[in-house]
Amino acid sequence: MYQLTDRINVTESKRMIKKKDSLNLIIEKKVKLSFVLIIAVCIAPNIIAQEDFKLDKFDTTHEILNFGYGYDSLLTQLETWRQSPHITIDSIGASVLGRAIWMLTIRGMQSHFLPIYRVAIHARTHPNEVQSEMLSHRIIEYLIEDSPLGELLRDRFVFHIVPMYNPDGVELRYGRQNANYVDLERNWFTYPHEPEVEALKNKYLEFMESFLPIRIALNMHGDGGAAKDYFVFHHENGTSAQFVEDQKKFITAVRNYWVNGIHDWNYMVSWTDGNPLVYPESWFWENYAESVMALTHEKCPTQNDAHYDSSAFALLNGIIDYLEITSEVEDISDFPEMFSLYQNYPNPFNSSTRIEFSIYKSDFVILEIFDALGIKVKEPIRQELFAGNYSIIFNAENLPNGIYYYRLIVDNFTQIKKAILLK
Ligand SMILES: [Zn+2]
Repeated sequence: MYQLTDRINVTESKRMIKKKDSLNLIIEKKVKLSFVLIIAVCIAPNIIAQEDFKLDKFDTTHEILNFGYGYDSLLTQLETWRQSPHITIDSIGASVLGRAIWMLTIRGMQSHFLPIYRVAIHARTHPNEVQSEMLSHRIIEYLIEDSPLGELLRDRFVFHIVPMYNPDGVELRYGRQNANYVDLERNWFTYPHEPEVEALKNKYLEFMESFLPIRIALNMHGDGGAAKDYFVFHHENGTSAQFVEDQKKFITAVRNYWVNGIHDWNYMVSWTDGNPLVYPESWFWENYAESVMALTHEKCPTQNDAHYDSSAFALLNGIIDYLEITSEVEDISDFPEMFSLYQNYPNPFNSSTRIEFSIYKSDFVILEIFDALGIKVKEPIRQELFAGNYSIIFNAENLPNGIYYYRLIVDNFTQIKKAILLK
């Protein structure tokens, strides 16, 4: 269902961009290879810290910086990723100029009762920091790979990755801004929001309010002047002593996998004067504090493919170690092997009754209740659920006596049972 919609979206987006092309909005591509581009980023002057660098809108150096990887490249790449059975692709909203912002969701079947963690990653807020998107691509490759690491990640995590958060900025060759010339990174507390901020924040909000909130949120950037990768560390003055310890643990867990390629946790310390209400991480901290490990990652510029490989490998293994996940195999002897909807109890019932069901794999689940005429009276569940046994209370205090039907829909499975209300 999602996939069909997405295909239409991709086609429309391509058409839309072509139209814009004809309006000369998009300068003809001169540089095609991303690595050529990365060299350009590397030698471009003044691209130093994520926090402080400002580009002049009319700086002609942008013209030579096609950044090597434009929106069309992403659309082509999406078609390739779409072939993976582990990837679902959705548009989470649109940019100022109407380009869809794409989010990949990567997960496996997850037929177990072990804890599952949600990880959100967004990249290329700053268009010229193309290495952040290259690193995200490598992360995606690891996640869908047919390997023990890929399997473990898909089994225990739900990953959401936005590879290009600022597609207009990429096409306009801006260093840091969107089409309204606003730096999306610094405007998570500015109202009204830029459409890109609105789209991503709404998505993150939806996840945070779900039964599986985001546990780790990575904001991927690139520092053109850095010799190694690093994280932007949040000082205790802007967070808490506990979060400082958590950050040290997280960064060290990642760094353990590539000590020579990643700076130590205290390389770039921010928020020393408090928490500035500007960044996505600030938003996570303000609303969810220690419950989310929200950090900016800065990738150093490189043309070496192995460098991206090492970064992605370290990040993913670091996440696994930080959350103390082992590749244990769970005893699944009492695990349901199918979808089942059970008879409610008590039945008949006089005000409330319990309805139980089992789902053997993670999926989108609908549980709805109808009266004897087939009119829907309640819809207790319409959401994604993990594999497992579930139990809900059907409260019928405000409903008249009579026969009710409850229906479970998961995937292609549908089952209906009858409940009798007798007050
Ligand atoms: Zn940046």
